[in-house]
Amino acid sequence: MQRAKRLDKIPPYLFAEIGRKIAKARAEGKDVISLGIGDPDQPTPDPVIGELIRAIRDPEDANRHRYGGDVPVREFPIAVAEWYQKRFGVELDPGKEVLALMGSKDGIAHIPWAFIDPGDIALVPQPGYPVYNVGTLFAGGESHFMPLYQQNGYQPDFDAIPAKVAASAKLMWLCYPNNPTTAVAHLEFFRRAVEFARKHDILICHDSPYSENTFDGYQSPSLLQVEGAKDVTIELNSLSKPYNMTGWRIAYAVGNAEALSALNLVKENTDSGILRAIQFAGVKALREQDTFVQQMNAIYQRRRDLVVDTLNGLGWNIEKPRATFYVWAPVPDGYANSGSFASELLDKSGVVVTPGRGYGEAGEGYFRISLTYPDERLREAMQRIADALR
Ligand SMILES: *Cc1c(COP(=O)(O)O)cnc(C)c1O
Repeated sequence: MQRAKRLDKIPPYLFAEIGRKIAKARAEGKDVISLGIGDPDQPTPDPVIGELIRAIRDPEDANRHRYGGDVPVREFPIAVAEWYQKRFGVELDPGKEVLALMGSKDGIAHIPWAFIDPGDIALVPQPGYPVYNVGTLFAGGESHFMPLYQQNGYQPDFDAIPAKVAASAKLMWLCYPNNPTTAVAHLEFFRRAVEFARKHDILICHDSPYSENTFDGYQSPSLLQVEGAKDVTIELNSLSKPYNMTGWRIAYAVGNAEALSALNLVKENTDSGILRAIQFAGVKALREQDTFVQQMNAIYQRRRDLVVDTLNGLGWNIEKPRATFYVWAPVPDGYANSGSFASELLDKSGVVVTPGRGYGEAGEGYFRISLTYPDERLREAMQRIADALR
């Protein structure tokens, strides 16, 4: 058997060593607490589950078992457009400017197939979600990494992008509120991004799954609020993170109609759409679950305070993030790198954190803690970290 060379392009999996350690510790009967993965611990809201069950059993809907791509739920793009209008004041044509996705990851992985030919460049923030880069490599393109530095508010410096790179770039990935750094962006930054994209004829893909996971009254803007942004932008958002629906696989892209139609052409030849009952449930979430999101945010905010206050009590100096459900912190002095810190912490405390290096070289020197773990487990983990590092 001969594997495609394409697979050799995937960067080595940096969590492999930690994964082995976790398995070994667990095999020895140790109680390992992983704070590594960003996947909500709380259940999907009950009315959304109820809507799924209603729709999958609905005898009136003769299409309920059919390909969701061939017989899409008309209300889903309408509910997305209404939500954008209400939340951001952005007008969208549900027929042309909204495209349902089987999770944002579906969009992120397939967008390069629509816009990147071999040799083309995608501008990719680093540290960042690994699929921006891997999707580009699969399509035969190359990533030009835009490092995100703390001193720049974890925003890329467009002036640092070489002219030749800008000229052959077709796509630019952005992500705010940012995973993993938790940084937020203001409209002024988005304006500069749009200006840059116009100048170099680049499509901006703004991946914004944490737009609703915000704290202390902060409201995250949409990049489409920038005047003229729709000419050069699509924005991805997902039901996964605000409504605890990661396993359901429902998300959407909105914005430039031509770009969405190109993406749809790839998707029509890749998948066959989302089960109708899931689309109905998505409508329910978008239309009726604002209060639920607020309740979730209160939970994450409390956990955020616990984690940041504990670390700051141990000598860190971390600002409380205003969004996402992560805490991003520098590796303390005395450790060679983020991998050895995570590994030693696991040995000393049985707690797993994510080494920043896993999000690319520019993530080195940091680690990430996810807040998607039950309060008691998180409290226990922070107590163990305090005991191990004090
Ligand atoms: C979770 C996450 C995604 C994937 O979300 P799905 O909609 O569940 O596929 C995409 N981008 C970032 C930055 C994420 O953190």
